[in-house]
Amino acid sequence: MPDGRHSEGPTEKCGVVGVSLDDREAARPLYYALYALQHRGQESAGIVTHDGFQQHSHVEMGLVGDAFDEGDLESLNGETGIGHVRYPTAGSVDSSCAQPFSVSFKSGSLGLSHNGNLVNAEEVRQELAAKGHAFTSDGDTEVIAHDLARNLLEEDLIRAVKRTMGRIHGSYSLTIMHDDTVLGVRDPEGNRPLCIGEVDGGYMLASESAAIDVLDGEFVRDVKPGELVVLQPDGSGFDSYQLVEQDNTAHCFFEHVYFARPDSRIDDNLVYDVRRELGRKLWDESGVDSDVVLPVPDSGRAFASGYAEAAQDEGAGVEFAEGLMKNRYVGRTFIMPTQDARERAVRLKLNPIRDVVEGKTVTVIDDSIVRGTTSTQLVQLLKDVGAEEVHMRIGAPPIVAPCYMGIDMASREELIAAGQDTEDIREEIAADSLSYLSIDAVAEALGESKADLCLGCVTGEYPYDIEGETTDRDVARPEIDGAEAGIADD
Ligand code: 5GP
Ligand code: MG
Repeated sequence: MPDGRHSEGPTEKCGVVGVSLDDREAARPLYYALYALQHRGQESAGIVTHDGFQQHSHVEMGLVGDAFDEGDLESLNGETGIGHVRYPTAGSVDSSCAQPFSVSFKSGSLGLSHNGNLVNAEEVRQELAAKGHAFTSDGDTEVIAHDLARNLLEEDLIRAVKRTMGRIHGSYSLTIMHDDTVLGVRDPEGNRPLCIGEVDGGYMLASESAAIDVLDGEFVRDVKPGELVVLQPDGSGFDSYQLVEQDNTAHCFFEHVYFARPDSRIDDNLVYDVRRELGRKLWDESGVDSDVVLPVPDSGRAFASGYAEAAQDEGAGVEFAEGLMKNRYVGRTFIMPTQDARERAVRLKLNPIRDVVEGKTVTVIDDSIVRGTTSTQLVQLLKDVGAEEVHMRIGAPPIVAPCYMGIDMASREELIAAGQDTEDIREEIAADSLSYLSIDAVAEALGESKADLCLGCVTGEYPYDIEGETTDRDVARPEIDGAEAGIADD
């Protein structure tokens, strides 16, 4: 795929939930769960419920708190439902891609919430279009919904899902409503997170365990890569079907570095612990003596506390200080359309405390550098208020290539580390020194082998078959036995 072009359909980094309860309405728990996942998407929010007879749906642009009012929640009848928050993609804001996506077909209704991104959506869409399916959006979620609806005309639910999994390639964590049954599906590589929780009166599925916490539920376990989980409509339990087996996973390490909440538990790791461990390793690999260590709030905080702790363990006299203050009301700098707007946003968002840094040598810790806007501005700001030296330490490896799997990470031309080495970048951001974390350290902190991670954005080699990119493994599609992979004939 040429640089700068988005993968097929809009890239989606989102949050999904599903609940199945006995004797109580699903809408409010779904609403609270979506609130807990707000960081995974701020463009739109939606809930689809089923009352045993029919589907109810409310999907709106904006934040969860703005998208639903009391009346909306009251009209979402039923004890089972799914929800979605959608991440704003660079450029267009398109309400036709807001989710959950719902369709009615001959043998029932379907609702679908998707986190991730298919890399063969266009191919499947064209095959379905040739068989008469009409599409209302250019999103890949609609492709999954149509393929599944088609399979459901011929097969039972389990076989239909299995057949669709044999057809679609890429990353997907899905919550699905088939009539009043809620399902969870995680792609065979387990790229995006998805977990199961037990709550008062039933069970739930969510992108992150923090959503289970807010409902005072109990974390049960992660959904396994290639697994289908079916929540019983009466809230009494769930069934599991391992539909696809794969030798290796391709967990996204960036979920742990930046995207997920630190209080979430993903694939047996508490994100907060991973970030602190990454910070400790950053000290081990490239610690530098300075008067103070400053986190870039909020994403750099756990890294900086791990880094400072490791430094202090070794007797280094660094002081951990919150010397940068964040204005919470500034939107994410990432989605600003122009470089000028992004720079202004960083300035509005982060303000240094002069007394903490004046006359001192400082080490600034951030989780990642993407375009370099934040680091460039921070070095300048800190020098402006009298810092003697500014050392940048980054809790992830250099990001050299785009993400096709659901994290919106700009194109190669925009990535400061694409085609430049660390010394070039140091010069460009005008820091006194700059170090990133190694890929090995990331794998160690996660307790996983590199072969089980998606490292596409830091190696430029992907665990999926993406047009115009190279792969880091044998990406032969999984064998689907028992159900023929492919689109059902008329
Ligand atoms: P830069 O300013 O270098 O373009 O971006 C780096 C900053 O953006 C870091 O502070 C990091 O926490 C944050 N960041 C990293 N990845 C993402 C992302 O996918 N979306 C958003 N909104 N911010 C990100
Ligand atoms: Mg940040």
